[in-house]
Amino acid sequence: MPDVSFTSCAQAPVLKERGQREVFCGLTSIIWLHRKMQDAFFLVVGSRTCAHLLQSAAGVMIFAEPRFGTAILEETDLAGLADAHQELDREVDRLLSRRPDIRQLFLVGSCPSEVIKLDLSKAAERLSQKYAPSVRVLNFTGSGIETTFTQGEDECLTAMVPMLNESSDRQLLVVGALPDVVEDQMRSLLDALGIGPVSVLPASSAGNTVSVGPNTYFAMTQPFLGETHSALLRRGAEHIPAPFPFGAEGTTAWLRAIADKFGVSDDKFEGVVSAPRARAQKAIAQASEVLKNKSVFFFPDSQLEIPLARFLTVECGMTALEVGTPFLHRPLVGPDLELMSQGPVISEGQDVDLQLDRALQQRADLTVCGLGLANPLEAAGLTTKWAIELVFTPVHFYEQAGDLAGLFSRPLRRRAILRQEAAE
Ligand code: SF4
Repeated sequence: MPDVSFTSCAQAPVLKERGQREVFCGLTSIIWLHRKMQDAFFLVVGSRTCAHLLQSAAGVMIFAEPRFGTAILEETDLAGLADAHQELDREVDRLLSRRPDIRQLFLVGSCPSEVIKLDLSKAAERLSQKYAPSVRVLNFTGSGIETTFTQGEDECLTAMVPMLNESSDRQLLVVGALPDVVEDQMRSLLDALGIGPVSVLPASSAGNTVSVGPNTYFAMTQPFLGETHSALLRRGAEHIPAPFPFGAEGTTAWLRAIADKFGVSDDKFEGVVSAPRARAQKAIAQASEVLKNKSVFFFPDSQLEIPLARFLTVECGMTALEVGTPFLHRPLVGPDLELMSQGPVISEGQDVDLQLDRALQQRADLTVCGLGLANPLEAAGLTTKWAIELVFTPVHFYEQAGDLAGLFSRPLRRRAILRQEAAE
């Protein structure tokens, strides 16, 4: 019997805010993209601030041969735009002659006005011709004026879509950068279901040809890829809408949607998913004991907020008070909204002061927010979780479901221990 009392969040009004926001810029995406694309180099055309952001966010790269760098353009060095283009060409020359392993070079735009004036798409075209066919040069923006931190990946993948080969073969394209170990798990599930051929965007190397066309069905693993979604539709591919593969239920629903499209029988589906689903349910039950009946408040940060709120409320027994997201792409997060019961405020965009007032008034048991807001909220006695950790940690699919619940329960456990110690 359908639950007639259930009204989903898909019908809930959305609180739209357009004020000051507190999030990292899209350059941050380079930290995980460079790990994924083994023969790519990300050359940020930017200022010393951009260089510092990358160095401090990716400190681990200091001892390795890095696959990202910054071409610093400063007004004082340059007499005009022609100089800027020449300087950029010199930088690229130096880089490519030193690093013959580079197959894809991304010129990444940033905020400074001298960079904004530079037409990086023209530069990419010019350099692509010069270095073809051994290196492909593309461009996208990671500027903090235009992008939040996960939008960097969206911009990067959108730039890649027009370059994909045309194909009319029936195939599955999975979209979104996942850690290799997670991608392998996903591929073996799809393989066991008999679904294929499967390719992934972004591919780990430029040599792995990814193609697209009218018989391509694509599934998203990251909810922040709205532009990439549109670009793939423009290439004639068909999206398979589904909840995102977080937790036991999310993963099952994601696989089910794809399996339906590829004609997999119920028996076969159950045979493949029942054991890993049961493992995931058990792991979630253990890790989420402390989450049950607790409340959560999401500041808008990574665009993962709606699928994660679905996971925490439906699978971990939490109550969401507010779920903020920088952008609400219904074609992507609609299926997750459908599964969540109405109750939380769904907010899009940010007016950070107003939202801080709401968070401090509501005093959720757990507040998920950006690094910049965590300290003041902790000082006000709230327990916080850094949203950025959710992007850097493997959290998708069955085998990571327990870890995902654990990421949220850890700060609550820590707070309980501190309170206990203070009381003794
Ligand atoms: S916000 Fe702008 S200036 Fe600052 S690091 Fe990002 S792109 Fe560079």
